[in-house]
Amino acid sequence: MGFQDFHGNSETVSRAREMLAAARFPHAVLVAGPNGAGKYTLAQMLAKAMNCLAPPAGLPDFCGRCANCLRIAQADDLDARFAEAVEAREALREADRKDTRIFVQTHPDVLIVPPDPPQRLVKVGQVRRVIETIYFRPGEGRERVYIFPATAFMKEAANALLKVLEEPPEYATLFLLTENAGELLPTMRSRCVTFALAPLPAAELEAYLAKQRPQWSAKQRALVARLAEGAVGRALAFDLASYTRAREDALTILRSASSGDDHTPLFRVTETYRGGEGKQKTEQLLRTLYSLLEDLLFLRSGAPELVRNTDAAAELNALAARVDFAWIAAAAQGLNEVERGMRRNLLQSLSLDAFAVSLEPAK
Ligand SMILES: [Zn+2]
Repeated sequence: MGFQDFHGNSETVSRAREMLAAARFPHAVLVAGPNGAGKYTLAQMLAKAMNCLAPPAGLPDFCGRCANCLRIAQADDLDARFAEAVEAREALREADRKDTRIFVQTHPDVLIVPPDPPQRLVKVGQVRRVIETIYFRPGEGRERVYIFPATAFMKEAANALLKVLEEPPEYATLFLLTENAGELLPTMRSRCVTFALAPLPAAELEAYLAKQRPQWSAKQRALVARLAEGAVGRALAFDLASYTRAREDALTILRSASSGDDHTPLFRVTETYRGGEGKQKTEQLLRTLYSLLEDLLFLRSGAPELVRNTDAAAELNALAARVDFAWIAAAAQGLNEVERGMRRNLLQSLSLDAFAVSLEPAK
């Protein structure tokens, strides 16, 4: 338990801990990195280290067992706490619901301010709560911590927060987590110190998965490490079974589209995308088709080291030998049309058939 459980980006993590040790931790931190890179995990760990009642010796760390660590950890599963908060609001009378903003708070000194649905933006009412509480000294911890899991702010909310960022009190730290620092006002960015979380190299992520997912084969781990694009959280949450299923279907569709020989296997697959099983299955299929097309592009461009579906190399090579750049471009465009059709609720199975048949070579 402690920072040793944070995988990757060790320089950034050490730098943060050294700042804590020197009592020079910034009061406003922008944690930037791709989805699944561990931005929230790191913010939670720092909140625990700032408030741990029994910190281990050495560089600042947290025990994970004291009252403060345990209470902060109740918000580790942010998705679950967020869903509960939204549900609690739904249960209110309509008049009360309107003025109730969404927060996640499991410790009196640590407040998490997620984008408020349905717009999924941080609203001024949420920032007002920050302003109302931030000038009180922490009660049970040493540091008041505010975590914004995303930086999609409504304009007035951003302006209100800016005032806090200009002069935060000594005993408060704000974490702003972002996939895209460019969406923040430059005036906000300039008041924060940025901790950047870079994606892990595929080999490093593979080695990590070997420990965390021993039930996966080496080929499967290599595949997930590439598809997760270096993000630990995405790799751990990866649903390998449903990806594998979607990919079998996607390969059947591409085989049929590039040869046009016999439509039976194609129809057998698309038949299962009638829409009854929901959009999710089709969305996964489309994402998989895109990733295979991208791999074909890498193979045709002589860059096989960039291929992500490494475990399907033989099949991909056979496909790549049959198609050219124009075909791949047309296929990507065709997928776009299938997606548009889904938004108009066209029958997914028919759209997929039309997609495959339109790409067949002329006889
Ligand atoms: Zn502790």
